[in-house]
This record gives sequence, structure tokens and C-alpha cells, in this order.
Amino acid sequence: MKLHWEPISLELKTTFRVAHGASDQRHNVLVYLEDGVGEAAAVPYYGETQAGIIEYLKAVPDLGDDLFDLDAVLAKRPSGSRAARSAIDEALHDLWGKKLGQPLYKLLGLNPKRLPLTSFTIGLDEPEAMARQAAAANHPILKIKLGSENDEAIIQAVREATNSKLRVDANAGWTREQALHIIPRLQEYDLEFIEQPLAVDDVDGYFWLKEKLKLQKIATPIFADETARNSRDVVKLAGAVDGVVVKTMKSEGLREALRMIHTARAHDMQIMLSCMVESSVGVTAAAHLAPLCDYADLDGPLLIKNDPYLGLQYDGAQFSLPTGHGLGVTKK
Ligand SMILES: [Mg+2]
Repeated sequence: MKLHWEPISLELKTTFRVAHGASDQRHNVLVYLEDGVGEAAAVPYYGETQAGIIEYLKAVPDLGDDLFDLDAVLAKRPSGSRAARSAIDEALHDLWGKKLGQPLYKLLGLNPKRLPLTSFTIGLDEPEAMARQAAAANHPILKIKLGSENDEAIIQAVREATNSKLRVDANAGWTREQALHIIPRLQEYDLEFIEQPLAVDDVDGYFWLKEKLKLQKIATPIFADETARNSRDVVKLAGAVDGVVVKTMKSEGLREALRMIHTARAHDMQIMLSCMVESSVGVTAAAHLAPLCDYADLDGPLLIKNDPYLGLQYDGAQFSLPTGHGLGVTKK
């Protein structure tokens, strides 16, 4: 089985700013394995570039002839670009479903009607601008990006502008002390949870923070995103966080994302399924796992102007899975 690929440039509807930086465009790569398709999202703060992903793909050896031995095929991927490794895994799952003539969720034994609502993301900006965007979004669940000087003012302004459910994402933007200062102050805004308050490699910090918040009787759930890349990371975080954020671009595909989900469940952790700035290819691939998750943050296709594919469909915050074989995505 041979790979081929196509670089794509996704235009964002509004400048997307998080604690790590800002962008108006993202340069991803669609990866094809025979008829199967997957997407590699070049996320700048993960050190991935479109050129680096393509360099990686050029070095991938032939993936063998037995596509049904998924783990053996995936083991042939060289180490390197996580995004590219994820795209190969997605394309393999798409091809698997196409060969068997079934949508991926059916092959996984999942109920396509059991889907959480998705949040819509408001990127970092001045408090008033974020409040305006929150009101204009008119979406029942908003994910508010934090990690700036104005975090409390942002939540206050957004809360005044909308009655939507709010969850926040600090994207590793706080020190331990900053997190301990601000999290109790955010409690009154009735947040669903707070994502990635601490630095990416500060696993011990999550245990420290949990103890400190418990002493203050702060019950806002804490989720790990950047710190929880795969099932091994979930084990390290067990007991320290209430939930983990699963993304195929971190786990290097759907196969490991599934292991991550089951590992989190085994440790009584909640799961949010999320995405990067990705087209309908990558986000639909992830969405096939949504029946196993408590929360969804699958707004990638809603953030871009020029999605090259059709896949999951949105009716407000409720999305539905396509019923075509494999991932069920089709080129526009
Ligand atoms: Mg996050």
C-alpha cells in the first residue's frame, strides 16, 4: 500500500489566537492510502510544519499488503511527525471501512446517535472583543481561550454577554501559583471545567494543584490536554485530573486515541474529544469516537472558510456522523 499526499491551506474565518500564538491560516496535508484519506494538521506550537510533514511522508516505506492487520501496518510508520503518523492512521481506518463496506463507527461497535454537543471556540483577544464574539456566536457551549494578563476580566465580560455554558482552556499559560490564584476566582462563573492550566511537562504540578484546590474546596473540574498525549500519559495523570482531552494529532491516530479513551475510563476520568484547526477530514475521523466521550470540542470545520471536504454535519451544537463507508468524507 502506497501513500500519496496533497498540501492544503485552510483560511480561518477570524484570526485564531491562543496562549502559544496567533494565526490566520493553517497549512495542513491530506494523506491518502489508496482510497483512504487522513489529515495531518501542522500545529505551529507542536513544532510541526507542512514541509516537515511532507519530508516525513517521503520517508515512509511501503506499508505492506494486509490492511486488516492494523497494528502491523501502523508499526511500519517511522518515528517522527505525530501529525503525519496520525494522518496515516486515519487514512488506514478510512480504507478499512471502505474495504469492509461499513462506516467506521459501525466497525467500532458504536452508536452514532450517542453524540455529545460540541463547543465553539473563542480565541484570545481583549475582554470586550471576546465578549462580542461570544454573544455573536450564539452557541450553547463556548470554549474560552485564556492564558493572558486579563483572564478574569475576560471571563467576567463573556459571562455578562452570554448565558451559554462556558469551559475554559489556559493552553499551559499559567504557572502553578497563577493557577492557584485564578482558579478559585473563576469558580463563581460556573465553568464546566478548566483545560490545561499548567505547563505541558508539569505532571507533578497537577497533583500539587489538586491538593491545593481540595483544601480550598474548589470543585471546578481540571482537564489535561497538552500533558495527555497518549494512553501512557493518562496513567501518569490518574488521580491528578478529572479528565483528559483526546486529539488524534496528539495520540498519532484513532487507534491510540481509542486506547487513551479506555485507559481514562479505567481510571474514572472523563473524556473530551477535541481537534486542532483541521478540515472535515481530520475532524470527521475523530468524530467517529465521539460516542465514547463525555464532551466534544469538534469545531474545526466551523472555524475555516475553505473546507475541501464534506463530512460531519452541524445543526447548531449537535453534529451528526456521515453514513458513508470508512470515515464517510467526500471531496467537495
Ligand atoms: Mg486545549
